[in-house]
Formats: sequence, structure tokens, C-alpha cells
Amino acid sequence: MKCLRCRFEDTRVIDTRMGGDGFSIKRRRVCNHCGFRFSTMETPVREEITVEKRDGRIEEFDRQKIATSLRAALKKGDHQRERVEALVDGVVVQLLNGGKKRLASAEIGMVVLDVLKNFDELAYLRYLTVYQSFANLDDLKNQILKNETTI
Ligand SMILES: [Zn+2]
Repeated sequence: MKCLRCRFEDTRVIDTRMGGDGFSIKRRRVCNHCGFRFSTMETPVREEITVEKRDGRIEEFDRQKIATSLRAALKKGDHQRERVEALVDGVVVQLLNGGKKRLASAEIGMVVLDVLKNFDELAYLRYLTVYQSFANLDDLKNQILKNETTI
């Protein structure tokens, strides 16, 4: 996003927090050129996401499930509700930005992994392990391979 003051192309996020309603994300940004600071608000376009299980069943997207799987991967010190919720928000925002209304559980797993990778390498690896217990690992591998080949 461009700087509001000098219009420099490159600003970076220095703080991200959830809005009071839990459905928005506020980011504090700083311009890499002039140091100007400003805030942006990110709100999802409200759309329902459904999840297609491997056996073809359709379920509603459940934040709680994501939170539970995240907690299993995070180290104890990162179990605070706010932190887990912020990570879930990161997942939801990415899913909504992807624009798909129906997602395979493996696709959601990929997004969770993506969010975790940026947050904590160990949690990322642990999630990979946890993932095997509730999803088909082959799906995940295929997604990873697909991702790597499209990069
Ligand atoms: Zn600037």
C-alpha cells in the first residue's frame, strides 16, 4: 500500500490487531521512505465458507476447529486466546481473500500452514504432524507439491 503522505510505494506493517468486533483487522503501517505512520482496516466481505471433507460430506466452516488444531501445534506460551484468535483471523482472511466458497479441508490446512510458517517454524512443523491425525496426508502432500510447482 502506498504512503498517504509521500506516495512512496512501499509501506510496512508494524502492528496488527483484531478489531473489537472480532471481524476486522487493524494494521498500523509505516512508510519506508518518510516514516509516516497510518492505520488501515481490513474487513472481510461476508461470505459463507463451506468445507468439503475427503469423503464428500459438506460442513460449515468452523473457526473453533481451526483454533483447536492451532493450539495443538503452538507451544504453551502461545496459547493465549488473543494470539490464537489472531492466527485464526489470519487464516479466515486468507480464505476469504481466496474468493472460493467451497474449500477442501486440505486447502484450509495449507492456509493454516502458511499462517503458521510466518509465525513460528516449530509450530508449523508440529501442525504438519497434527494434520496427519485428522486429514489425509496425501492430500496435503499434493497441495504442497502443487504449490511448489506453481511458484
Ligand atoms: Zn511516505
